[in-house]
Amino acid sequence: MSSGPIGIFGGTFNPVHYGHLRSALEIRERLGLAEVRLMPSARPPHRATPDCSIAERLEMVRLAVAGEPGLVCDERETLRAGPSYTVDSIRELRQEVGPQTSLCLVMGADALLGLADWHQWQQLTDYAHLVVIARPGWHFPSAGAVADWLQPLLCEQVDELLAQPAGKVHLLQLRPLEISSTEIRELIAAGRSPRYLLPDPVWSRIRSAGLYGYNQAAQT
Ligand code: ATP
Repeated sequence: MSSGPIGIFGGTFNPVHYGHLRSALEIRERLGLAEVRLMPSARPPHRATPDCSIAERLEMVRLAVAGEPGLVCDERETLRAGPSYTVDSIRELRQEVGPQTSLCLVMGADALLGLADWHQWQQLTDYAHLVVIARPGWHFPSAGAVADWLQPLLCEQVDELLAQPAGKVHLLQLRPLEISSTEIRELIAAGRSPRYLLPDPVWSRIRSAGLYGYNQAAQT
């Protein structure tokens, strides 16, 4: 296990794309993290379990991060039964790294707006910082339970953030890349190419496994 601060980036990754990967890399560089772990959710609690199996989604994340030492595929949510609650994963990771290492749970601002529906959401900061990616068109919650909870936790300085193992919320502006897994699935199902929106090895895997309605006979 790495000794420096660690970022953990959860999602369905159905499939993983350059929006995820570029964000993970920029977060690592901007915060000076030892690594960022991409953690596919096996059974996301707040959305339907994707048709694409967790084994395939995991394999695509593995292919996507191969050759980039700062990005790691974290399989822990595929190893637990039941809903993939982020708080359980963060608690587990905290036990592995010990009490001193800074952990940064990364989420898009869209995810932050729905935070109040997450299982034991207020406990997330017992184990990690929250690093929120400002996404185009999204805003910080300005009223309600999440807004009230966030306000005293906000921390602008990276040094101050990483001087502590957990407990703060940091907002990051990154290069916006308007790419979504939904659009990629739609392109493939419509017989169009998603190439250059995601790594070539991931696109090859989608074709060879016939994922997302890719029709080999019609499209080769
Ligand atoms: P879908 O279209 O199926 O909802 P998605 O492309 O939004 O998928 P997810 O796997 O649901 O991808 O997202 C995982 C995390 O990545 C979330 O925190 C989300 O905010 C963030 N994310 C998704 N797309 C981008 C992007 N283009 N740039 C930065 N962050 C992104």
